[in-house]
Amino acid sequence: MTAHTWRSLKNKKYQLSLRLFLFLNLVSTIFITLSPLYNARALTLPVTLLALTSAGLLAWHYRYPHKKINIDAISIVSGCLWAWHVAIKYAQIDPSDFSYLIIALLSVLFIGTISFPNNISAFTLHSLPIFLTSLWLNDGELWPRMVYCFALPMVGIAIQHVIQKRNDHFAQSLMYKLLEERETLNDLSMLDPLTGLYNRRGLKNRLDTLLTLDSGQHYVLLIDIDHFKAYNDHYGHMMGDQALIRVSAAIRDAVRSRDIVTRFGGEEFMVLLTSIEAVQARHIAERIRQQVYDLKIPHMFNESVATNVTVSIGMAELQGDAVDSALEKADKALYEAKHLGRNNILSSEEIRFA
Ligand code: GH3
Ligand code: MG
Ligand code: MG
Repeated sequence: MTAHTWRSLKNKKYQLSLRLFLFLNLVSTIFITLSPLYNARALTLPVTLLALTSAGLLAWHYRYPHKKINIDAISIVSGCLWAWHVAIKYAQIDPSDFSYLIIALLSVLFIGTISFPNNISAFTLHSLPIFLTSLWLNDGELWPRMVYCFALPMVGIAIQHVIQKRNDHFAQSLMYKLLEERETLNDLSMLDPLTGLYNRRGLKNRLDTLLTLDSGQHYVLLIDIDHFKAYNDHYGHMMGDQALIRVSAAIRDAVRSRDIVTRFGGEEFMVLLTSIEAVQARHIAERIRQQVYDLKIPHMFNESVATNVTVSIGMAELQGDAVDSALEKADKALYEAKHLGRNNILSSEEIRFA
C-alpha cells in the first residue's frame, strides 16, 4: 500500500458518506411528502428544494465520481432547508403539540448521525440549524429534552472522531514503516552481503540511471584474484572470505567516490570508471593492483607470481551504453593478463595492437 492508495481510500470514504447523506435526505423528503405528520401540507418549498438538490447532486456525483463536493457546504445548506421546513410546518399545526418538534429534530439528527459517524463538523453544520430553530419555536418546556437529543449523538461522534484519528494515525505510521522497510530491503538486495559492494542487480540499477546522465569517456575494469582457488584450498574458505573482504576494501579505496565497484562473481570484481581519460583510468587500475599487493595477504601458493595475494586486471573503454561488449573486451584483456603472468593490467587496446 502506498501513500497514494491511502489518500484514495480516504477520498472514497468521503464520497461514500456524501452519497449516503444525499440519499437519506432524498428518501426522507419523499417519505414526509407521501406520509405527512398531522396531515399538514408536507411539500413545502424547502423540502422541494432539498429533494431537487439531493437528487441532482446524487446524479451528478454518479456521473463525475472524481469531482469533489464540499461536504460541509452541503451539510449546512441541507440543515438550513430542514430547519426552514420545520418552521413552516410547525406554524400549520396545533402550537401546543411540541412532540412534532422532537420528532422532526430526531429525524434530522438521525440522518446526520448515520451519514457522518466520525465527521464532527459535517454533523454539527447539518444539525445545528434545526436544533436552534426548535429551541426558538419551543418556549422552554422541551429544552432539556432537545439539548439531550442533540448532545448525545454529538458526544458519540466526537468520541468516534478521536478513535478514528488514532486509527488513522496508527495505520499511517504502519504504512510509512512498511515503505521504509521495503526501501531498506530493496537496498540490501542490491548489495553483496560479504563485501558490501554492489552485486549485479545493484550495478544494473546504477547503470540505468548513470548512462543516461553522463557523457564522456568511461572505462570498465574486470579484476580477478590470482590463484584464488589454491588460496581457498590451502588456507580454508573462512580465510578466503576474509581475503575477499580486504581486497574489496582495497579496491574501493583505490577508486574515486563516483566510481562504481561491483562484486561481479566469486573472486571477480568490476569497476566502472565514469567520465575519465584513458591515462587516468590506467592510473587508477594500477593503483588498485598496487594497493591489493600492498595488503600483503600471505599466499604461498600464488604460483610464481608473488608470496602474497595479487590481482590481474582487464580494461576496456565503454562505448555508448554497450556495457556487455565492453565487458567482453575487458574479459579478453583479463584473460591475456593472466597469460602474461598475472599481477598486471592489460587494456583491450593493447591486445588489438599486440
Ligand atoms: P586464476 O588466477 O586463473 O584466476 O585462478 P583462480 O584459482 O583464481 O581461478 P578460479 O576461477 O579457478 O577459482 C576461483 C576460486 O574462487 C574458486 C573458489 O574457490 C573461490 N571463490 C569464489 N567465490 C568465493 C567466495 O565467496 N568465498 C571464498 N572463500 N572463495 C570463493
Ligand atoms: Mg582468479
Ligand atoms: Mg575467476
